[in-house]
Amino acid sequence: MPWRVPPADRKAGVAPDPYAVWLSEVMLQQTTVAAVRDYHRKFTALWPTVRDLAAADDAAVMAAWAGLGYYARARNLLKCARVMVADHGGQFPSDLATLLTLPGIGPYTAAAIAAIAFDAPETVVDGNVERVMARMFDIHTPLPAAKPELTARARALTPAVRAGDYAQAVMDLGATICTPRNPACGICPWRAPCAARIAGTAADLPRKTPKKKTPTRYGIAYVARRADGAILLETRPDSGLLGGMLGWPCSDWVEDPAPAPPIAADWTAVEAEARHTFTHFHLHLRIMVAHVPLDAQPDRGHFVARPEFSPAALPTAMRKVYDLVADLVQID
Ligand code: SF4
Repeated sequence: MPWRVPPADRKAGVAPDPYAVWLSEVMLQQTTVAAVRDYHRKFTALWPTVRDLAAADDAAVMAAWAGLGYYARARNLLKCARVMVADHGGQFPSDLATLLTLPGIGPYTAAAIAAIAFDAPETVVDGNVERVMARMFDIHTPLPAAKPELTARARALTPAVRAGDYAQAVMDLGATICTPRNPACGICPWRAPCAARIAGTAADLPRKTPKKKTPTRYGIAYVARRADGAILLETRPDSGLLGGMLGWPCSDWVEDPAPAPPIAADWTAVEAEARHTFTHFHLHLRIMVAHVPLDAQPDRGHFVARPEFSPAALPTAMRKVYDLVADLVQID
């Protein structure tokens, strides 16, 4: 990795370049090492220092970033470089608190820069580190609830010296040996104290809380057209879903809805079904249509004269019903 200092150079006292470390950490957010390598080389060739980058043309930086994705990162990169030059004399701050004030630098990136570039004893916790900690200590609490415990374990192991080497070593262990599937315990340098290896649970860790399946509810929407063209609508109760919105009279939206026609009529089922997804459930609406005489009296809802009806005023779920039946009931 071009931003790393080889062990022999480290021994000889060569320190990592904070600019190269920062660049790598921003590029690595959401992207793999393999994809980042060439971009990192290109950026450091075009703009060898943070001052060069701060003075760069915005369009040139965006063009050089093209293909890496998540373009907000490139804009923040430039912003950060300029703040660094304007407020910090072109020098990277070495403490976590100041790093956190910079654009595009969150807790993970700040800890990574402090540890890797400045050897500050900060704890760097990414997905790799979480996995290694869950296995090392055989922690079965599922993620994300386990995060504080995994971070505390990682913090307790962070050494006061060579914190940067340590952080990179644990991340590399997770990326190359203690991998999500088939951890290579046989060649792992940490195999002796690893509790999950001893318990035989390594491949099952870390546990994750399963994502809840979105439930489906069913309902029946009733579309009645009066002989003069007026249509039957109902204002939904203020409390509850689509509260206060105008819509078709409906049955309850439940697992197995009972018919609830709003007016006595000869109701016909429509073959198509309107489907809509709300935040917490999918809704499948069966649709019934009817033509009713001028003197028909609804049990609920009110007739709206055709010229006063605007489909655009319907909430999306109700609009989908309209789109399916407008022709059929001649209300378009
Ligand atoms: S012994 Fe196995 S489970 Fe434990 S840290 Fe090493 S690779 Fe991971």
